[in-house]
Amino acid sequence: MAGTKDRGPTIAVDRELYEKISERAGTKKVKIVTEANEMLNLFLMKEQFLEKWAPHLHLYKTNESSLSLIDDNSKRIVEIELKDNRVWCDTCDKVNCMHCYFGMACFEIAYLKDSKPKNLKVKK
Ligand SMILES: [Zn+2]
Repeated sequence: MAGTKDRGPTIAVDRELYEKISERAGTKKVKIVTEANEMLNLFLMKEQFLEKWAPHLHLYKTNESSLSLIDDNSKRIVEIELKDNRVWCDTCDKVNCMHCYFGMACFEIAYLKDSKPKNLKVKK
């Protein structure tokens, strides 16, 4: 990893984000700059991995209820949701298709809210 002398340009991050990265660095007993560089590098490497692993899938839109993927193979927009704490594909109607795996590999999966939480009891 880069030392202090060859650190290069710096960027500003939100205070809350800085605190989270600082906590991770402390847990791993590494410098904050090392942890921040590792996190950003992994993000970029993961994007490259997904482009190679599933070149026909692209993240199109994200909101709290779904991730929309463009599937070049089927020429469709596929919706991925979180139901009962499981990633669900509305197109394939299952939890274990490539769309689900791709969705889970996208960092944006963290935005999804469970549309049908398991611990939500239905009143009789
Ligand atoms: Zn699917």
